[in-house]
Amino acid sequence: MELHGVKIAVTGGAGFIGSHVVDVLLARGSEVVAIDDFSTGTRENLAHHDGNARLHVEEASVLDEPAMHRLVRGAACVLHLATRSVRVSLKRPTAVHEVNTTGTLNVLKAAAAARAKRFLYCSSSEVIGTANVVPITEDYAFRPETIYGASKLAGEYYAQVFNRSGWLPTVIARPFNTYGPREYFEGSKGEVIPRFIMQALSGRALTVYGDGLQTRDFIYVSETADYLVRLAGHAGAVGATFNVCRGEEIAIRDVAARIAELVGVDVPIRHLPARPSDVLRLYGSNDRLSRLLGDAPSVSMRAGLARTIDWFRSRAPVAMQGLGFLDADNWSAQEGEAWMERAAAPD
Ligand code: UDP
Repeated sequence: MELHGVKIAVTGGAGFIGSHVVDVLLARGSEVVAIDDFSTGTRENLAHHDGNARLHVEEASVLDEPAMHRLVRGAACVLHLATRSVRVSLKRPTAVHEVNTTGTLNVLKAAAAARAKRFLYCSSSEVIGTANVVPITEDYAFRPETIYGASKLAGEYYAQVFNRSGWLPTVIARPFNTYGPREYFEGSKGEVIPRFIMQALSGRALTVYGDGLQTRDFIYVSETADYLVRLAGHAGAVGATFNVCRGEEIAIRDVAARIAELVGVDVPIRHLPARPSDVLRLYGSNDRLSRLLGDAPSVSMRAGLARTIDWFRSRAPVAMQGLGFLDADNWSAQEGEAWMERAAAPD
């Protein structure tokens, strides 16, 4: 599918992965509408495109169905990345359910009504749950551990139904843990690698939840963004699901040790209680992706971490104060929904 000169809509376009997708599309000559409600995404993530007339940043929630119809109209392709995160889902499952299921349905309907030629649904490896057979292929038996994972899976099924019904050609991408510049370290939106980097840069202990033996398969963000755009543009991807991962497993405590080494500090690891419903093993196969596209993610973790550390180091001076929150976990401070306390009360 031709990307040059055509209108492409990206939901979650001001987010961490979304803003990198916007970078790829602008570099390929597309006219981009970046839609974001700025609950997690920031204008700063797209500030380097200020003055680029091919980028239109629109503030809207995917729950605003009329807005989705208005903003997606005329788009040849829609990449749907807007989502609420796994950590938010631990205490506010209803909000995550609404954005990830109703929001996804709204964007699918708007894209179908706009007669878009292609829709890419950005899912998540969290749909899988803890792996007991590795590497995980796309046809794995799902067992999501969280409302986040379950709601992302519902979005996958909706995207499949739109394709099977002949309403909209859809592609499903399932990125594993993506890391890199612009990733968040703050509060419930903070993810493990930027948290460890900011902890190391500020001389704090690295907070490992549980024993740290839980594993993830990390991929560098510019590669995730590039694969999402290429999958969206490839006719052979329609109707299929693709893992987007490096196919390499690393334990979280080894990530901590590697970051401390690369930052060049001798900080201790401090174990905090395990995160509830944490997925213990994620390690994917990228065979299907590389068979279709002819290559596979190649940025090594060491190289990707070094680039990410450089990025955070160049921004750290402004953010160095008020980092005390990094010493605690990043989910339990959120206020839970009322029913949760009753559900957890002793008999
Ligand atoms: N984690 C950790 N310490 C932190 C943040 C996260 O040990 O300060 C762990 C977390 O328990 C999980 C993994 O790192 O096992 C990845 O967490 P993240 O929230 O980045 O992504 P997830 O894969 O859970 O979506």
